[in-house]
Amino acid sequence: MNKPAIRIAVLHFSHETVSFLKNDTTLADFIYPGSPASGEALLGAYPKSYMGGFVKVAREFDGVELVGIESPLWPRTGTGSGWITEEAFETFAGKMIAGIKAGAAFDGVYLCLHGAMAVRGIPRPEAELARRVREAVGPKAFISATFDLHGNEDEAFLRYADMAFAVKYFPHYDEYLQGERAARTLVRAIRGDYKPTHVTIRIPVISPTVLQWTGASPWMDLGQRALVWEAREPDTYVNIFFGFPFADVPDVGMTVQVLTNGNPELAERVGRDLAATIWRRREAMLKSADIHSIAKGVALAKQAVAAGATPVVLADHSDRSGYATRLLREIVAQNLSNTLIATIADAGATTRLKAMGAKEGDSFDMEVGGLADESAGEPVRIQGTILKAVEGHGQFWVCIRFGQNNVLILSTYLVQIMEPFALKALVDIDSFDVMAIKSRVHFRRGFDDNGFAKTILLVEPEQPFLGTTRLDGLPYENVDLTKFYPYGSPAFSV
Ligand SMILES: [Zn+2]
Repeated sequence: MNKPAIRIAVLHFSHETVSFLKNDTTLADFIYPGSPASGEALLGAYPKSYMGGFVKVAREFDGVELVGIESPLWPRTGTGSGWITEEAFETFAGKMIAGIKAGAAFDGVYLCLHGAMAVRGIPRPEAELARRVREAVGPKAFISATFDLHGNEDEAFLRYADMAFAVKYFPHYDEYLQGERAARTLVRAIRGDYKPTHVTIRIPVISPTVLQWTGASPWMDLGQRALVWEAREPDTYVNIFFGFPFADVPDVGMTVQVLTNGNPELAERVGRDLAATIWRRREAMLKSADIHSIAKGVALAKQAVAAGATPVVLADHSDRSGYATRLLREIVAQNLSNTLIATIADAGATTRLKAMGAKEGDSFDMEVGGLADESAGEPVRIQGTILKAVEGHGQFWVCIRFGQNNVLILSTYLVQIMEPFALKALVDIDSFDVMAIKSRVHFRRGFDDNGFAKTILLVEPEQPFLGTTRLDGLPYENVDLTKFYPYGSPAFSV
């Protein structure tokens, strides 16, 4: 006899909101060809990420039916937009709940989330979504979720949901794996083979994301310790949320969640161990990378080129709009050559260039970038020749050669270059000594972990603009930084 069918509703709602950006993330930003998605389109939306892992494993079990409930995909602005409007949240959350109710009885729900969403008027949006889903499916259904380690989560989420699985690596190599775990554990829970028991511990430490690279200690050691616990204790899962400080929400900072199979003492023991480890290593965590001023970084890049330590990566980790010209301006001022700047976002300029029918060989003389807010700086005039002007990935891309074999890539939106080979379609990546990009840690996967770059320099402006490592320069309204190390002296013991 076949086992009775298991019905699972699948939902997606993800954003990493830089609430200090001036451009809200609106309903329209979530609506574009392919988004919102439902049914198989939703289930197939991110095949190499959380969703792909979840769907693959859930379908390895007999008698599991997945129902893709209409959900928005990532907004077209990526991570380059501010507060999500209440209209956007309510519209999609409303559709999701209506979709769950229309789909009748579900045994389980999978929530594919990020965790660093910031919504006007809703302090804990992921927990609020879980609360509404719980209300719609009733107390007997199980709710399983996946998260980015940049999620800002406190105790609220697991009050309404049963299970959460967050990535352990930054760059986030294990998204698919966490999707797989979310599926297996959800199906087991529905079958009565896993009894989710959890503990959540908040640790009052706040850190800028650029420091959180898990390729180096002590961040690497935290993940390792979590993995050791998972290896030692069957059915134990550990999440360490590093937190996302550029969302001005009440649950910023670090959080540990531990999930066990019906063993609250074990969850408590593992949670305390990790919380104590984090607290003990807090000083080293805040000193894990050197950040240079832009002027110093460009000077160091020049020295590295002279010494033959190329290619050099100059990563302006702090640019959150994509429009920032401060690094470009300094590259021009210090007369760097053989330098790729990827990218400067400028929706106005790319729209005009597209309308003008810009093409290879055209001469170029325009002011680009800047002005999105004070962090972006002033526009910079670039005179050169267009190498390429193409449409792709929902953006218009223009490559301009200028100076001594320098190339600037203009894009419509913020682009975080994670690996150089992604640029091959646009430029000859081997012809550059220096690559100036806008990324904090994600670039490590393609520039550092594989040995590509010989020199890596992280830079930020001298002023504490919105992507700064000096969080006390940010205009928080919902966070009291003095309650967090290193900005105050919070008491903490486990
Ligand atoms: Zn992340």
